Amino acid sequence: MDCWRESEGKRVHDPLFYHFPTTDNNNTDDDKDDDDKESESDSDCDCVAVEGPIIVGAGPSGLAAAACLKEKGIPSLILERSDCIASLWQRKTYDRLRLHLPKQFCQLPLMPFPCGLPAYPTKQQFVAYLESYAARFAIRPAFGVAVADASFDGQFWRVRAHCCRPAAGKKTREYVGRWLVVATGENAEPVVPEIAGIGEFSGEVLHTSAYRSGEAYRRKRVLVVGCGNSGMEVCLDLCNHNAQPSVVVRDTVHVLPREMLGSSTFGLSMWLLKWLPMRAVDRVLLLVARLMLGDTARLGLPRPRLGPLELKSLSGKTPVLDVGTLAKIRSGDIKVFPAIRRFTEHGAEFVDGRSEDFDAVVLATGYRSNVPSWLMEREMFSEKDGLPKKPFPNGWKGQHGLYAVGFTKRGLLGTSMDAARIADDIEQCWKVQKASQLVMSFSLPVINVSASNITTTTTTSSCDHDHIR
Ligand SMILES: Cc1cc2nc3c(=O)[nH]c(=O)nc-3n(C[C@H](O)[C@H](O)[C@H](O)COP(=O)(O)OP(=O)(O)OC[C@H]3O[C@@H](n4cnc5c(N)ncnc54)[C@H](O)[C@@H]3O)c2cc1C
Repeated sequence: MDCWRESEGKRVHDPLFYHFPTTDNNNTDDDKDDDDKESESDSDCDCVAVEGPIIVGAGPSGLAAAACLKEKGIPSLILERSDCIASLWQRKTYDRLRLHLPKQFCQLPLMPFPCGLPAYPTKQQFVAYLESYAARFAIRPAFGVAVADASFDGQFWRVRAHCCRPAAGKKTREYVGRWLVVATGENAEPVVPEIAGIGEFSGEVLHTSAYRSGEAYRRKRVLVVGCGNSGMEVCLDLCNHNAQPSVVVRDTVHVLPREMLGSSTFGLSMWLLKWLPMRAVDRVLLLVARLMLGDTARLGLPRPRLGPLELKSLSGKTPVLDVGTLAKIRSGDIKVFPAIRRFTEHGAEFVDGRSEDFDAVVLATGYRSNVPSWLMEREMFSEKDGLPKKPFPNGWKGQHGLYAVGFTKRGLLGTSMDAARIADDIEQCWKVQKASQLVMSFSLPVINVSASNITTTTTTSSCDHDHIR
């Protein structure tokens, strides 16, 4: 029995669906009776065919992929667990956040930032840009749809998702399509490490994804665990709100000025890399950083043995771009501690023997990918870190129509590259599929879906995903 539903069609880009039997608002009473009977017997079967690619995640990467596909006339469906686009930016970041990198390295394909934005747009400006990006390409994700698992059945990708909208009737739905684009991001879940004694600490403990502003911490002693870009910026925000922050620097870290020699450090690095080998560029960056910031090791922030760019390319570890935190460390407004030995009821003991009382702890301990928790295919992504196994720039394509966008450890620049490649690749297969449908114009492709299997009565495509490059 067919069990296709068009209800989701109102939420997705047109024209998403094949011409399947649907329930619509123009039904006759007889039709309605039939539908009622059908929906009773179909309660265990809610299956939706998606004509174009299924994209999981409506962050910048999912939007970029959908836009590049749309530009080629290919519809897609984005499934997003949250209730908005760019949920990382809208729901999980602090108020004072600006793009860490200059805007020209952060714009998505096919649409530049509007004129007049500052070099480092605020998160509100970035979100507004993404909203108009989605509007421009008529991208309407299905919100409140959390993908629970996705697997390839030999012919199609079957994506099972739980509906998290309170008003939604059915809780689980299966989306079936030829292409699956993973766009759930490198930062899908907060990393909360087990630190000895953390359960004994009587103060507030929160991850940076729940931190909004230092306003709530005025005059409070706050320990920030982690010294990446977020940790350093949260310390500065706490200082600006008259809190007393301390930062844990467990490891080595590269701190670079955000601008050097009249240019953004990131832009300068990109330019120098055109002419010089990476190690030479690293030496230039470290020399200028030393002249501008002094010896950071003396402030408790020792540098790694490898240079900032080499370290980034080998381990993905991003250098901190300083926006004023170092000056606050130098002035003593922010204290620096080494690794934590254990938490106590009122504070923490550190490996150098010091101990201190705190009112709150902010874990700036980063994020991780969640792909292994829902993607059943084990070839493309590493189960260890949830990132593509193939190194950059080859991690965007898997087998059988599986793709990844935004997993390059190169931020939004990497996203743009992936999205364009994926759209080019799918376009070739799409054209073959469309051509074969034209040839069979008198027998439209009909896909019969029963509760647990899907069969094509007409072959819609002879395209072999893996032979298209
Ligand atoms: C504080 C901070 C500042 C940053 N600044 C910059 C910067 O200046 N420049 C830069 O290039 N990069 C920056 N980044 C990196 C940034 O994460 C990416 O550039 C960008 O957000 C990545 O977009 P994305 O779409 O790949 O992932 P995300 O933005 O994380 O979007 C992924 C989406 O997938 C959804 N999702 C996850 N799992 C599921 C599921 N199972 N089912 C359905 N939906 C799911 C999520 O809800 C989310 O909406 C920053 C990151 C952080 C944390």
